[in-house]
Amino acid sequence: MDLQRTVRRKISCVGIGLHSGNKVTLSLKPAAPDFGIRFRRTDIGRSEVPATVRHLAGIQLATGLAFEEVSVDTVEHLLAALVSVGVDNVIVELSSPEVPIMDGSAAPFVYLIHEAGVAPQQVARKYLKIIRPIAISRGDKRIALVPSDHFKVTYSVSYDHPLLRHQSRTLRITEETFVEDIAPARTFTFLKDVEMLRQNGLALGGSLENAIVLGETGVLNNALRFEDEFVRHKILDAIGDLALVGYPVIGHLVAHRAGHALHTEFAAKVLDETEAWRIVEAPVEPVTMPFGVKVKPATSGLAG
Ligand SMILES: [Zn+2]
Repeated sequence: MDLQRTVRRKISCVGIGLHSGNKVTLSLKPAAPDFGIRFRRTDIGRSEVPATVRHLAGIQLATGLAFEEVSVDTVEHLLAALVSVGVDNVIVELSSPEVPIMDGSAAPFVYLIHEAGVAPQQVARKYLKIIRPIAISRGDKRIALVPSDHFKVTYSVSYDHPLLRHQSRTLRITEETFVEDIAPARTFTFLKDVEMLRQNGLALGGSLENAIVLGETGVLNNALRFEDEFVRHKILDAIGDLALVGYPVIGHLVAHRAGHALHTEFAAKVLDETEAWRIVEAPVEPVTMPFGVKVKPATSGLAG
């Protein structure tokens, strides 16, 4: 049986908010089975904000959540790390509204979770398994989920920039591929947009320490971590935003030129389209034999 998991112990880190520039302490604490991922603010209020699409708020350049007096911002990189490492239940405490940006990737959150350790709980994990396609398109921006035996992501981007005319990648997402290929990919921005962001009171904590900045012909940072770091980061964002459905997804996510607004609109649509998925307790369902005996497929025996 595939069991739910939580962090083994409380663990904390300190960083700054990308948009606010404020210092913030983030702590991850163990939580009971079926608790899900919930945010608490240690500076205000007692309300918890569950990480689900029902609590979406303020999707601009990052994904925010709110419930009653409590809001939290820029949750997507942390959520991507939690769901990809397989943490189902956790309390996320923040000392101010924004999740720290760290180095602009999810790698520091993966490190934090691994440092705490992850413990199985005695309750089966539930997955949202896609059985019919679900899709949204807005002009040339598209996103869809189609049935697949595994969670896979295909993402493509194209921008009016010499380094970013076209990047595309397909990856089956497991803890291993996420940690190796996706978590280290950093957020990016265009130099021409930085001034506009600052004038609007955004990206006040932004620097070359926590974002790739694209000048007219190249990047201002010393080096990229991957040649196609940009599209890998879009995959990271999409995983974090899709986590707001509240279950690990079994299906193939296909997105073209999407962003937080479309990712989160799509996550809400997925939950609404109840005919297009089922909740299951194992990634690969047992095969039903003609005489009614259920057996696991051979591959799961090898893997187990
Ligand atoms: Zn991002």
